[in-house]
Amino acid sequence: MSTINQSGWRPTTPEAGEASDISTFTGNRALMLEEALIFEIGSSETTGVDFDSVPIGKPRFGDLYRDSEIGLPGLSEPETVRHYTRLSRQNYAIDLGLFPLGSCTMKHNPRLNERMARLPGFADIHPLAPVDTVQGALEVIDQLAHWLITLTGMQAVAMSPKAGAHGELCGILAIRSALDAQGQQDRKILLVPTSAHGTNPATAAFAGFSVEDIPATEDGRVDLEALKARLGPDIAGVMITNPNTCGLFERDMKAISDAVHAAGGYVYCDGANFNAIVGRVRPGDLGVDAMHINLHKTFSTPHGGGGPGSGPVVLSAALAPYAPLPFVEKDGDKFHLVEEETAGEHHAGTFGRMTAFNGQMGMFTRALTYILSHGADGLRQVAEDSVLNANYILRSMEDVLDAPFAKYGPCMHEAIFSDRGLPEGLSTIDIAKGLIDEGYHPMTVYFPLVVHGAMLVEPTETESKATLDQFIGAFRSVAARAKNGDPTIRTAPHFAPRRRLDETLAARKPVLAWKAPAAAEAAE
Ligand SMILES: *Cc1c(COP(=O)(O)O)cnc(C)c1O
Repeated sequence: MSTINQSGWRPTTPEAGEASDISTFTGNRALMLEEALIFEIGSSETTGVDFDSVPIGKPRFGDLYRDSEIGLPGLSEPETVRHYTRLSRQNYAIDLGLFPLGSCTMKHNPRLNERMARLPGFADIHPLAPVDTVQGALEVIDQLAHWLITLTGMQAVAMSPKAGAHGELCGILAIRSALDAQGQQDRKILLVPTSAHGTNPATAAFAGFSVEDIPATEDGRVDLEALKARLGPDIAGVMITNPNTCGLFERDMKAISDAVHAAGGYVYCDGANFNAIVGRVRPGDLGVDAMHINLHKTFSTPHGGGGPGSGPVVLSAALAPYAPLPFVEKDGDKFHLVEEETAGEHHAGTFGRMTAFNGQMGMFTRALTYILSHGADGLRQVAEDSVLNANYILRSMEDVLDAPFAKYGPCMHEAIFSDRGLPEGLSTIDIAKGLIDEGYHPMTVYFPLVVHGAMLVEPTETESKATLDQFIGAFRSVAARAKNGDPTIRTAPHFAPRRRLDETLAARKPVLAWKAPAAAEAAE
């Protein structure tokens, strides 16, 4: 009883309870395989290879030698390959379907990026290779730096930070150095909005600041008057995400920056959401002093368990002198690396290093490929299409789910919903689990904390209308089931290899090493 709808996909309605009543000999359900742990299928007595027994000589590390079995499972090569291939098929990935994880910008990674990153001249170089032999790689770093500075309207960029959170630390350390250089050691407080990503207060605390909340207004923005009232000689600055984590543009950003600067502080902008404004807004024009850019969000490149991050930090003229080493600089037609504080007056104030070397070369290559293949007009369209897609979801859902800020106007790149209006005992988690049965990775849930039972959906610009329509169909159906108190949604997912896990226990008391059942019992 399935029909093909307009956009060409075929929704099926499983008979409730039917599939789960049938059990199979293996526990497999067609291609959904029940895979045991490798320790449970392999035994340490067997191996896939025949080794000669090793003559026991004198231990080379004194008394530090193994005196028990190593306990590795023994499997043949085909058994091993199948085990890991089966596990990999239980993963959800951006190459399988829409990944609506808000705040993460899970977009398609163009294959051209991979092709470029794998060129031996980029992939096989060593960070200590003589500068003369890696001119092309340095040119990539320099060109990317130029694009980042141009797109943000800032003065300088520190390329080496290796993730968004690492970039935050870089920017905040630059602010600390600038304040110290002015003899402003007493400025020890950073103001952070209640909607901030957890990395913001964590970074501030790690860098030795204390954190105070800035309240939000009804319409989900920073309360400018409350912020102004708190500014003073103890305030080092603010950390503000723009667009913010409710998917809203901070319209007062320029007024916020002006007020903070007038009070002697600095403005850090969390630029993780740059995708929504790239090519349209230059944070430098809004008075920002430092902002990290998640190359692994805005400029594609794999992330989310799939690859390393990269978080270059753009800096204003006021903070540029404190940027970390190393730098790529161009001298005539040659690139060279500035590695020492003494290399020139421009770097005299540097606070040191964020990493041993220059940053994530593979990510630089992917990001520059992405930027060059889109061009300036293409990047602007990225921002516009990502906002359009998010608003399409917002407006397609607001009659079935509470959308707390929808009445104040359009959203940016992500749409936010709350669990208001769901029946007693049903909440966001049930909708998220219901989406798993529909074949989707759930959206970001219970973040940001300012929205009760938040569901943060970011489709990105790379999804087609047909894909969005199918997702909206599934999301509406799951939301309607939750609204109507459908009891089967309380126990979703029904079609996943595992049902509801105790996620709190898994996070608080993770079991990180396998123990044979007998040993595990003895250890209880
Ligand atoms: C992703 C994100 C970060 C952290 O970036 P990482 O690369 O994961 O360290 C910080 N702030 C916001 C708003 C984010 O979405």
